[in-house]
Amino acid sequence: MRVNQADASQASCPSPKGRGVRGEGLGASQSGPVLLGLTGYPLGHSLSPRLHNAALQVQGLPGKYRLFAVPPTAGEPTGLLDLLAEMRAGRILGLNVTIPHKQTMIPLLDQLTTAAAAIGAVNTVFCDGQRLLGDNTDAPGFWSDLQASLPLPDMPGQQALVLGAGGAARAVCYALLQHGWQVTLAARRPEQARALGQAFQPLFGEAALAVCPFSQLSQVQAVALLVNATPLGMYPQPDNSPWPADLPLPAGAAVYDLVYNPRQTRLVRQAQAAGLSAAGGLGMLVEQAALAWERWFGQQAPRQAMWSSIQDV
Ligand code: NAP
Repeated sequence: MRVNQADASQASCPSPKGRGVRGEGLGASQSGPVLLGLTGYPLGHSLSPRLHNAALQVQGLPGKYRLFAVPPTAGEPTGLLDLLAEMRAGRILGLNVTIPHKQTMIPLLDQLTTAAAAIGAVNTVFCDGQRLLGDNTDAPGFWSDLQASLPLPDMPGQQALVLGAGGAARAVCYALLQHGWQVTLAARRPEQARALGQAFQPLFGEAALAVCPFSQLSQVQAVALLVNATPLGMYPQPDNSPWPADLPLPAGAAVYDLVYNPRQTRLVRQAQAAGLSAAGGLGMLVEQAALAWERWFGQQAPRQAMWSSIQDV
């Protein structure tokens, strides 16, 4: 991580404190419309503009949440640097970051939160005084919605089975391990899962995370929670499921599917048909957005308005 080309002493990130209070505008160093946005590539189907524009509207804040499509480049990430320069100049208040820039963003920022550093991915950039900070709100967003959506045993040491070992799985595993769960990670490429386990070992110890190839799901012992962190079941292939058709779902497990489009995935339907509690990922999507909003504005996000904006999904 390095301090960006802009000289930090001349940076003019507005302080988040007091920003966004209804009728008070953006605080001393920024006035006029608020500009927020999402960077990644491609961005066609993102629901983030709906969530955040609804929040701006209900808070009476003039401004916009825009999509900043930045294709990946082999050389210097000039598109991302340009966006960060706009933030340093106070012209963009906050950014969300998605694939393929969640890792690329890291060395361009001044500092990471503990969660973003541990997960190794940034999905939110915000100003703190004169510095640009990277956070990961997927992990607390997942945890918060998991608690709200599913009946779970309230005892440390519970077993979870997480499917997939990409960016979202990293956030899910971090949240579960941080709250005392034991995790088995099932990936079609076990080396990807092992790399994730090794990254978390210094934080949570060797025993907290085990790895299982996707082909050996039948050997996983009783679990209290099954999480899908693969894209299987997502539009435009809603008939897919990450769980093998010939294998019963783990008895008594609660099932959380990060996929939110369609709202009710095949896995959620399979789980409900087996008498299990199950939830899709729309609540996590809203919660990670609300937490990003709270980093930008330093005040509680209007979650109800955010939910209302995506009722048709
Ligand atoms: P990612 O970084 O591309 O990781 C996807 C993981 O799933 C990888 O381990 C990948 O393995 C595995 N996978 C893909 N296809 C598979 C298949 N056919 N069989 C077995 N494993 C397969 O994606 P991500 O960012 O982690 O996102 C995963 C899903 O979570 C997406 O659907 C995304 O929309 C959703 N998500 C939801 C939220 C929310 O707020 N609800 C937040 C973040 C992500 P390989 O590397 O081998 O391909």
